[in-house]
Amino acid sequence: MKIASYIFVLPIALFSVTLGIFLYYCYEVALSATYIVPATVSPFPAGERDVALTFDDGPYGQPTEKLLTILKNRHVPATFFIVGKNVEKYPLEVRQEIADGNLIANHTYNHTHVALLGAASFKQNIAHADAVIFKATGLHPRIFRAPYGQISPTMLAVLSQEGYALADWTVDTNDWNNDHTTSQGVIRVVTLGVRSDGIVLLHDGRDTQLGYPRDNMLQALPSIITHLKNKGYTFVTVDKILHQQPYFPVN
Ligand SMILES: [Zn+2]
Repeated sequence: MKIASYIFVLPIALFSVTLGIFLYYCYEVALSATYIVPATVSPFPAGERDVALTFDDGPYGQPTEKLLTILKNRHVPATFFIVGKNVEKYPLEVRQEIADGNLIANHTYNHTHVALLGAASFKQNIAHADAVIFKATGLHPRIFRAPYGQISPTMLAVLSQEGYALADWTVDTNDWNNDHTTSQGVIRVVTLGVRSDGIVLLHDGRDTQLGYPRDNMLQALPSIITHLKNKGYTFVTVDKILHQQPYFPVN
């Protein structure tokens, strides 16, 4: 009986080991195929490697003109989250932003902490910004970004009620912080942080509280554009990434 059982056990064991080796081989082949296929095909199919440069807090006269020159010379469209009271002072710069193919968006009338406001005051603030932007440009921006990124449930309710689209960012460069950031630091944050469909937060004009100039941004921007172009990125305005209409229809 013992010999008879060995006769059965041995082929079964051999078969099991062979099957195991075969299955492991199949697994390896499948795994390597998984890795090889994306490597031969670009991991970013055409049209998917988009990035949006966004500039908050302008317009602001000469710094805005310098920024627009950099963008225009490099054929880069960008998105400007503009502050109503600055638009009143610099309507020409806003019109130039649009003429150069950039997008404009609402960043409140006076860059205050709108998350602390009640619904009526917040609604009035963004409507005020909209009115001065419309007066300067004939456009009603539909995309909104909150100053300091501070968003309250009240704000969300008002924005939704009024039909606005909320924009945030994926890369915060801290370019505004002249005490703790250099232009090299700004470049590093962007080059390390950008992924496809990225939204980069930068600042135009002057710091809204401390009055710092935007030298970090102006110095870093040419290198940022060159780096992203070399990586195959396409520069788009933020509406493309958010899949949102950029402006309300004009009646
Ligand atoms: Zn801001």
